[in-house]
Amino acid sequence: MLQRSILCTRSHLPKRCSVLSTPGFMPARASRLNSHQIRLSTTRAARPSSNPRSRPFYTTPFFTIPTAFILGYITYRYTNTTTIPYPINPYTFTPHIITSTTPLSPTSSLITLSPKYQATPSPSFWSIIHSEGLWSVQIKQPQLQIQREYTPIPETVIKSEKRVNINPDNKLTIFVRAVDGGEVSPYLLSRKPGDVVEVRGPVITYTFKPEEVVKGEEDIRNVVFIAGGTGVSPAVQLAAHLLSQHAQDGKERWVKVLFASRTASEKVLPQINELQKLGEGQGGFKVDVEFFYDDKETFIKQLDIETAVAALRMGESGKSGRDVIMVSGPEGFVNHYAGKKGWKDGLETQGALGGVVGEILKSRKQGGKIEVMKL
Ligand SMILES: Cc1cc2nc3c(=O)[nH]c(=O)nc-3n(C[C@H](O)[C@H](O)[C@H](O)COP(=O)(O)OP(=O)(O)OC[C@H]3O[C@@H](n4cnc5c(N)ncnc54)[C@H](O)[C@@H]3O)c2cc1C
Repeated sequence: MLQRSILCTRSHLPKRCSVLSTPGFMPARASRLNSHQIRLSTTRAARPSSNPRSRPFYTTPFFTIPTAFILGYITYRYTNTTTIPYPINPYTFTPHIITSTTPLSPTSSLITLSPKYQATPSPSFWSIIHSEGLWSVQIKQPQLQIQREYTPIPETVIKSEKRVNINPDNKLTIFVRAVDGGEVSPYLLSRKPGDVVEVRGPVITYTFKPEEVVKGEEDIRNVVFIAGGTGVSPAVQLAAHLLSQHAQDGKERWVKVLFASRTASEKVLPQINELQKLGEGQGGFKVDVEFFYDDKETFIKQLDIETAVAALRMGESGKSGRDVIMVSGPEGFVNHYAGKKGWKDGLETQGALGGVVGEILKSRKQGGKIEVMKL
């Protein structure tokens, strides 16, 4: 989670980014504004003579005051309804207004952002992003001019079953925890509804269908998701994607989330509650969330992971699709469960498999491949 991913630097990204990007959209917007400003200034330039007798009727206070109001209103309306083609793009930061903050604990909140300017992307815009892979956005701390990644979670997971837009009104909802001594997370937690933050993206962190994949293994089948803290957000994205896929092809899928949180008193994300309701396993789709709390000394142990891997019959041959173990959370958490990530040519890499998951897979006597992904 501590990677500082660079937009479009992963090999598969540029193509998708160019689909979502709109070269020159800022200049286009600027030129619309300019032509409007020119029209308004022309109106002001046609100022009449100061001789009250020779003043035309439309300069009397009876007319100028309402006219000023009308002009002011038009200007206000214009600048507040400026439309842009896309609510976010990977190249430029777009202003977003914080529309709500829901504290989940003294150090964490669910924050909802709406684009400041209206955007009417094509209906496929969000579904392309959601079906591409796990994704995040970058949010800027304006004083320090630094940015960090945050993972938007669907407002509701259930809607993805009906393939309805799960980002209604282009809203982005993020689960943020303030890190002690951190630069961006305390800044975000201190924002209030109405405040503006700058957002760009998406950054794809895991592609659901890798380019080089064996035939029959294009889609994900079962996932054991080991999450620490806000690292649970990609699990919600993943569950929404798999539910949408299941709705299309009817194939069996099972997600087991092992979710480690600091304290049992932290409120559970509404989306996690939804996932638990999906746990019934209707029609071959099942999500199961198991909670572990630091303050209750219930940590995710090797046996918990082994049990989940066995229950999901991971690596069992004869079925189509890939089985994946995902590890998502703070750096120390990922190191412990799957080993350190690496760096190559200035880019973060997966690094060697290690940690608890590495031990489990090393000691497996039989069974097919299980993919491991450190997020
Ligand atoms: C792809 C991706 C998606 C992410 N999604 C989310 C998300 O949805 N919600 C969210 O809250 N965060 C998320 N993060 C983490 C986020 O980007 C920041 O790293 C985090 O908010 C801390 O940033 P900061 O500027 O406040 O702290 P920094 O100034 O970067 O760090 C300050 C200190 O805290 C340590 N630290 C940093 N992060 C953590 C952590 N999580 N736990 C413990 N110690 C830490 C650092 O090592 C450093 O010593 C994501 C990261 C990535 C790479």
